[in-house]
Amino acid sequence: MTSRETFDSTVRLSLVVPVFNEEEAISLFVDRVTQVFSILPEVVIEFVFINDGSRDHTLDVLLRLQQHDARVRVIDLSRNFGKEAALSAGLQAARGQVVVPIDVDLQDPPELIPTMIAKWREGFEVVLAHRRHRGSDTWAKRSSASWFYRIHNMIASPRLPENVGDFRLVDRCVVDALKALPESRRFMKGLFAWVGFRTASVHYTRPERSAGSSKFNGWRLWNLALEDVTSFSTSPLRVWTYIGLAVSALSFMFGLYIALKVIIHGVDVPGYASIIVAVTLLGGLQLVGIGVIGEYLGRTYIESKRRPVFLVRQIYEGGDADMASNAGAELPAPVLAAPRA
Ligand code: UDP
Ligand code: MG
Repeated sequence: MTSRETFDSTVRLSLVVPVFNEEEAISLFVDRVTQVFSILPEVVIEFVFINDGSRDHTLDVLLRLQQHDARVRVIDLSRNFGKEAALSAGLQAARGQVVVPIDVDLQDPPELIPTMIAKWREGFEVVLAHRRHRGSDTWAKRSSASWFYRIHNMIASPRLPENVGDFRLVDRCVVDALKALPESRRFMKGLFAWVGFRTASVHYTRPERSAGSSKFNGWRLWNLALEDVTSFSTSPLRVWTYIGLAVSALSFMFGLYIALKVIIHGVDVPGYASIIVAVTLLGGLQLVGIGVIGEYLGRTYIESKRRPVFLVRQIYEGGDADMASNAGAELPAPVLAAPRA
């Protein structure tokens, strides 16, 4: 019997919300969630906000909110570690039976969560929120995303579901599986796909941001894509063997051709252009190959230091007894600060 088949129909839901300079968006978000769940008393909510090194008044806004809302818990990271690390911190702290990582800017509509919970009750451990189309994104973001998924699914495994962000509902067992993964470089979409479990989807149209602006520029997205490819595929390393073999085979044939030409027609001195082309082309190819190896080596090096994924300055617990009674709330190794009620 799984947790969802228990006689009592109460569901304990953790919303894991990373926030980075989001002072304007937070209260809009909490109000919308409260409104959605006001007609669903059987869903007990906790908000796990991870303040990812915000430089505005995000932390103050959160703490003020917590004073009159016991459902709010705040994990204040020591600096900006990035959304992936912030999500890891939130998953570590979440105490719910089901956990939903969600953006604070209302681009992940909370109205979808009751449908996700219904799917979960049917027995699915993962319920993905599938974007119907990406109308709210720029053309550049849409096309780079589509190329990213195409390339990922060609060279890496497991497949990443296309047009699915971090917004999804996962059962406690999935969270525990994710927490057990030891790597410190965490591309969450990839890790979610890697752990598997029975998966269903619901569809939605992604709206515009409620307030503030996107934190992901082209460079950050490119680095995220590199993170993914190097974490889930070794094809870019291995492909050099085949490129090398192909180039060697071509060179060998070219050498044979020249040798025969010399034997038949005698020595032919001109050849400056072809030599330069061959030298620069091969030099470039070799540098790219070394660069790819460097990319992997660098990541292996950083992984080998075994640094924590994130550091916590302080945990501000809400006073919600319903949720606090659940086990599994303590944050393990990466945390330095002790919880403060
Ligand atoms: N975010 C974060 N740390 C970062 C960047 C973003 O915690 O370094 C949070 C941000 O506050 C938001 C979520 O991640 O709640 C998604 O960010 P954003 O809306 O900027 O991304 P987009 O929707 O444009 O992909
Ligand atoms: Mg957004």
